[in-house]
Amino acid sequence: MSFNTAGQRSEDDSIQRKIGSYDSGNAGPLLIAITGMHGNEPAGIRAVRSVIAQLNATQPPLRGRFLALAGNLAALCEKKRYLQHDLNRIWLPENVKRIRGTQVSILKDEDRELREFVDAVEGELAAAKGRAILVDLHSTSAPAPPFSVISDTIQNRRVALSFHIPVVLGLEEAVDGTLLSYFGEQGLTAVGIEGGQHDDDSTIENHESVLWLSLVAGGLLTEAAVPALETHRRRLKEATRGLPQVVDVIYRHGIEPDDEFEMRKGYTNFHPVKKGELVGQDVQGDVFVPAKGLLLLPRYQGLGDDGFFVCRPVKIFWLYLSSLMRGIGLDRLLVLLPGVRADTGRGSILLVDTHIARWLVVQVFHLLGFRRSGFKGEFLSFTRRPEGPEINRD
Ligand SMILES: [Zn+2]
Repeated sequence: MSFNTAGQRSEDDSIQRKIGSYDSGNAGPLLIAITGMHGNEPAGIRAVRSVIAQLNATQPPLRGRFLALAGNLAALCEKKRYLQHDLNRIWLPENVKRIRGTQVSILKDEDRELREFVDAVEGELAAAKGRAILVDLHSTSAPAPPFSVISDTIQNRRVALSFHIPVVLGLEEAVDGTLLSYFGEQGLTAVGIEGGQHDDDSTIENHESVLWLSLVAGGLLTEAAVPALETHRRRLKEATRGLPQVVDVIYRHGIEPDDEFEMRKGYTNFHPVKKGELVGQDVQGDVFVPAKGLLLLPRYQGLGDDGFFVCRPVKIFWLYLSSLMRGIGLDRLLVLLPGVRADTGRGSILLVDTHIARWLVVQVFHLLGFRRSGFKGEFLSFTRRPEGPEINRD
């Protein structure tokens, strides 16, 4: 099955870019549920259809607007993760700029998908009166409890922690070009959800529960307007019993197509691993885990360049401490430390001379709301994650 020339929908007309929406004509936040960024992950689409059908049936008064969009229509049609490029790895600002500067009719495959998608989102943002929240629904190849993935801003934490599922920090540093990083850098609240295994019915239910809790956390619906709210909370708590509330990614095993990487069978998300544990094979031989932690996103599918990740639990105390430190503006004082200076004319980027500021580890910058953004010459650079206005106050 192939993509039609208009690029608007799959051939069987079953999935369109705009899946559906609901509003009551009241001002308020815009919540966009994003589904099918990967074409082999249909659970999110079923979940948003169900939630929109329930909203339309019960007509609760809603502040703002709830909208559901589909990502990679052509790949969804073929039930593949992607056709030419992973649609969730090509959102680097310069690439989006190139695609937006190109005539739509020339664009192919995922470039075309990105263009139509970004145009749809920007159109909604331009019309929105309140703040915007993105919830991006995914699923995994291995059996998995649900978890969320965020860039560590206070506003993202607030929404993600309301789901009662593990929150994964630091994936956006390990993986370039995601949709959430792109919109997160513009100050939007942006939360990714891994709802469970691709074809598991419970994945659809988990996504539905997350959507209802998002509508409440985002201030679109009151708690009283969601009759099964406690059922949704209980479902997610039970699905993740015994797992840490927050983890930080410490390692990504990146792979190239020529590596022929094969993950050893039997690994699931949050599976404890020891330093030096044998977890796979590639053309070079055995692949070992470099540090003790919990395994995340083991790759049991043919496509993608992430082999696996290792993460470690973060104590909730550190989250409170970092909120406090950011609240009193301690992050603004980092520049006074020896070996730290602002990048010329760009106050949101700090350059760290690691020879002088040896004791300043990445974790300190994480704590204060910065992400590691690479090297500039000899200096390690950190970018401040933008915080938009507080939700529920627009
Ligand atoms: Zn995905």
